[in-house]
Amino acid sequence: MEKKQFQTESKKLLDMMINSIYTHKEIFLRELISNASDAIDKRYFKSLTDSDSGLPRSEYEISLAVDGDARTLTVSDNGCGMTPEELENNLGTIAKSGSLDFKSENSAENVDIIGQFGVGFYSAFMVADKVTVVSKVYGAEKAWKWESEGVDGYTLEECEKDSVGTEITLHIKPDSEEEDYCDFLEPYSIQRLVKKYSDYIHYPIRMDFEVTKPVEGKKDETEKVIERRTLNSITPLWKKPAAEVTEEEYNSFYSAKFFDYEPPIKVMHYRQEGTVEYTALLYIPSHAPFDYYSKNYEKGLQLYSSGVMVMDRCAEMLPDYFSFVKGLIDSSDISLNISRETLQQDHQLRTIAKAVEKKIKSELLKLLETDREKYEKFFKAFGSQLKFGVYSDYGTHKEQLQDLIMFISSNEMKYTTLKEYVARMPEEQKSIYYACGDTPEKALKLPQAAAVKSKGYEILLLTEDVDEFTLQTLMSFEDKKFVNVSTDELDLNTEEETKKLAEENESGKELLDFIKESVGGLNSVKFSNALGGHPAALSSEGGMTIEMARVLSKMPDAGEGLKASLVLEINSEHAVTAKIKELYGSDKDKCAKYCKLLYAQARLLSGLEIEDAEELSGLISELMV
Ligand code: ADP
Repeated sequence: MEKKQFQTESKKLLDMMINSIYTHKEIFLRELISNASDAIDKRYFKSLTDSDSGLPRSEYEISLAVDGDARTLTVSDNGCGMTPEELENNLGTIAKSGSLDFKSENSAENVDIIGQFGVGFYSAFMVADKVTVVSKVYGAEKAWKWESEGVDGYTLEECEKDSVGTEITLHIKPDSEEEDYCDFLEPYSIQRLVKKYSDYIHYPIRMDFEVTKPVEGKKDETEKVIERRTLNSITPLWKKPAAEVTEEEYNSFYSAKFFDYEPPIKVMHYRQEGTVEYTALLYIPSHAPFDYYSKNYEKGLQLYSSGVMVMDRCAEMLPDYFSFVKGLIDSSDISLNISRETLQQDHQLRTIAKAVEKKIKSELLKLLETDREKYEKFFKAFGSQLKFGVYSDYGTHKEQLQDLIMFISSNEMKYTTLKEYVARMPEEQKSIYYACGDTPEKALKLPQAAAVKSKGYEILLLTEDVDEFTLQTLMSFEDKKFVNVSTDELDLNTEEETKKLAEENESGKELLDFIKESVGGLNSVKFSNALGGHPAALSSEGGMTIEMARVLSKMPDAGEGLKASLVLEINSEHAVTAKIKELYGSDKDKCAKYCKLLYAQARLLSGLEIEDAEELSGLISELMV
C-alpha cells in the first residue's frame, strides 16, 4: 500500500514525540481522552439540529481496553468520527494548530514544546511505536483506517466498523531501561491516570476489569468475571451548585485531593460570571503543613479547563501571602494547552488570579467578623505569612493586608486587630505602642511598658521576628504612628514634665557622662521618668531598635554594623540613683562599679543577655561580703 508522507512540520513533531525524553509521557492519555470527549460533544451538538445523527445522551461513552499479550491500549469513542479527508487533514498535518512554530531543531527546546503546548494526538507516539485509528462518520457506508509507525509516513485505507465513532489503538513500545511502558497496559495504572487527569470529563470513561468473585450458590468456589467499571467521577464536585454540596462532601474531597487529615477551616466555593468566567473551590487549611515555612513548600492552585486538569499547581494563581490556600479553578477561558511559559502573559489567568485574591481577602475578613475563634486559629497557623506579606516587596501590599493582621495586646492578653486597638484608644493617646519580647508576658515586663501601661494605654506585645518589621513597614495605622516603647520615640510627658526632665539632665550632666564612661559601649545616658518604678532600662536612638538589631544579627550574612545605639535610662526618683549620686561625691571607684551593676540590671530588665557574666558575678560577690 502506498505510504503517504506527513507534512514537514508534523514530521518534526512526530520525531520529537518518538524520541521524547519528556518526563510526563502519561499525559498522552489525557490528550486522547479529551479529543474523544470533544468528538462526542460535536456529535451531540449536531444531533440537536439533526436528530437522526445522534444517540440518547446516556449512551455516549469513552471506552478503554488493554491487551497485555498484544501490548495494545485502545481508546474508543462514539463521537463524530472522521472522514478520510479529515483523517488526513487532522492527523497528517498539524499546520492548522499554528502554535508550533519550530524555530530550531534543538532537542532541549523540543522537550519544552511538549510542556508548552500539549501536543494532542501526536503525544501517543511517546508511548507507542505504532498507532492505528479506525473511524466512521454518521451516514457513511464504510469506515477508514489510518495507521502510522512514525516519521516514515502513514497509510489510509477503507475498512469495516459497525458503529459511528473513532477507535485509536496504541501499540505500546517495548520496555526500556529508562521507561516501563508496560505500565500503560496495566488496568489499575490506567485507572489511576484517568482519575488524575480526566476525572471530570463529562462522559463516562469505562474499562473492563477481570475480577475474582465467589460463584453464586457454591460456597467455596470462585470464578473470574469481567466487570465493566466507570473510571471517572463525571460531575465535578465544584460544578454542583454550592447549596447541593454537604460539608461532608467538601471535606472528603479536600482530604482526598490535598492529603490533609484535618478538615479545612474554611471552604470557598463560588462561580464567577462576567468578563472572565470561572468556578473556584478553595480551602483554607486548619493547620500549616509541616514544610509550610520552609523553601520546599510549593504554593499554587490546580487549573482545570472545563473539567480537564491542565496544571497541578499553578503558582501564579496565588500571591505569596495567601500561599496557604489550597484548591482549584475551573474555567473554559483557560486553554487546554496552557503552560508555565505562556502563563505569565495570559491575560485571562491574571484577571482570574486578581479576582481570586480579592475573594480570599473578603472571605477572611468575613471570618474575622463572624467567627473570631476560627479566625484566631487560622491566624495562629498562617499569621506570620500575612505579616511577612506586609513587610515584603517594600510594603507594596500593606494596604491589602493591614486589616487581617493581629497581635497579642496587653488588653486582656488577647489577640487584637489594629482597628480594634485604635477604637479603644483614649482620646489623648497619640501613638500605637508596642513592646517586643520572647513572650507577651516578657514584653509587658519591660520597664518602659510598665510606664505606658500605668498611663492606662494599651500595648501590642510583639513576639515574632517579623513583627516589628511589619509595623515599621506600616509606619502608621489610621494616622496613628507605631511607637516602640524602648526607643527615644516614646514620649508620655506633658510639657512641664519634659521641661523638668531636661533640667535634671542638664544639671546631672557630669554624673551622666561619668556613668557612660564607666559602663562603655553606650550611646548616651539620661534620666527618665517612664520606667514604671524600675531603677534603669535600655532603649535605642535612631532607626535601629534593640529588637531589630537582635533579629538582623541572627541572619546568616549579618555584619558587625547591625547594632542599636543604646541609651541607658535611669530612674531619677529611685533610691539606687540617690546612692549613685552620693558615691559619685565620696567614692568614684565604688560608684563606677555600681554603674556597671545598674547597667547589668537594665540589660536584664530589657531582656538582653549579660555581656560579661564573670565580671558581674565578681561585682555582686563584692557587694554581698
Ligand atoms: P487538537 O485536539 O489540539 O486540535 P489533536 O492533534 O489532538 O489536536 O487533534 C487534531 C484533530 O483531530 C482534532 O482537532 C479533531 O478534529 C481530530 N480528532 C482527534 N481525535 C479525534 C477523535 N477521537 N474523534 C474525532 N476527531 C478527532
